[in-house]
Amino acid sequence: MSPAASTATAEPHSAVRLEVLFDELAELTGQRNAIDGRIVEIAAEIERDELWGATGARSIAALLAWKTGSAPSNAATIATVAHRLDEFPRCAQGMREGRLSLDQVGVIAHRAGPGSDEHYAQLAGVATVTQLRTAVSLEPRPEPGPRPEPQASITKTSDAEFDFWRIALPHAESAKFEAALHSHHDALVTDWKRDREAGGEGSDHATPIPTNIDAFMRLVETSWDVEVQRRPHGQRTTVVVHVDVQQQVGSLHLGPLLSDSERRYLLCDATCEVWFHDAGEVIGSGRSTRTISRRLRRALEHRHPTCAVPGCAATRGLHAHHITHWEDGGATELDNLVLLCPYHHRLHHRGGITITGPAGELVVTDGGGQRLQPGSLARQPSTPPPAVGPCPGPTGERANWWWYEPFRPQAPPTTN
Ligand SMILES: [Zn+2]
Ligand SMILES: [Zn+2]
Repeated sequence: MSPAASTATAEPHSAVRLEVLFDELAELTGQRNAIDGRIVEIAAEIERDELWGATGARSIAALLAWKTGSAPSNAATIATVAHRLDEFPRCAQGMREGRLSLDQVGVIAHRAGPGSDEHYAQLAGVATVTQLRTAVSLEPRPEPGPRPEPQASITKTSDAEFDFWRIALPHAESAKFEAALHSHHDALVTDWKRDREAGGEGSDHATPIPTNIDAFMRLVETSWDVEVQRRPHGQRTTVVVHVDVQQQVGSLHLGPLLSDSERRYLLCDATCEVWFHDAGEVIGSGRSTRTISRRLRRALEHRHPTCAVPGCAATRGLHAHHITHWEDGGATELDNLVLLCPYHHRLHHRGGITITGPAGELVVTDGGGQRLQPGSLARQPSTPPPAVGPCPGPTGERANWWWYEPFRPQAPPTTN
């Protein structure tokens, strides 16, 4: 057979194969959309009835990422759609019927205006995710008033996981800040290099190279120490706690009396300075014994680099938690220590979750006493897939934005 003849027969063959595969893809896509539609409803029910409080998860999205074994971005999309499910009944219907994908409805739920359900449910029938994003961005937004004169400012907003600081500085001050940040970063990198050379090449538990965030925190901590030194007591450490050894009552230095859980939380990873009192007399200050040495900390990070609570992938700012508290005789050693993110550490000391050791056989239970399992809930399906039609996806036609009429929020009723 000549080479030309063989390509001629190969071509129709691959076209047929592709057609068969596309058919199957459409079938599966329809089913997946319908399944995502149900997952979103489940998430909405968990949120509405506040069922997730006892799970130890820090947010609905974190819970979903854990239980479905999906990426945080995918879980965030599910949570976004779930949060506004009541506002978008037609879009939700489209998912349940297998016609609309989670990503399509996710774009809508993320930023579309109130009352736009019908508009976007129709558009999503033909528009790709990218086209929907453009359509939503074309929605007229309320005019921001005249721009105020820029002023140096520092503001803070928060979500479940982070605080967001926004700092506006005139250029001269900004340059000073930048120079300080650079010099702290340089110093950290020098230390880091020295450590690495001392630890030898190819060391398994090498710490990551210091970032700008590390430099920023160093900038804050050093200036804080200087400030504290100017005060009469001259403590250089961050938080000072007084503990009455007989009654085990803790209070912040010159501050309010601490609750039991706050005291244990603060004293657990002793980056604070502790003063012991007996019958009103200071009998000593403790810091060194419970302070986690650099070597111990590295060993902890090497053993388990993330927060030890199942489903939590936090790696930043972890605290070393004493499984048996040192107040109760727990030792500051590997077997009695686990790393926890600040959120779960606080939650544990407040009694929201329990953590029992030894560290090698850690058991974490939720508020209801249920043992938390690290894996997702995924298992072999035992029910047939949703009975929905195939979904060939959006038409993908080139959108002509010139003729597109964006969704316009209804003007509020006027009184005159
Ligand atoms: Zn602790
Ligand atoms: Zn955690």
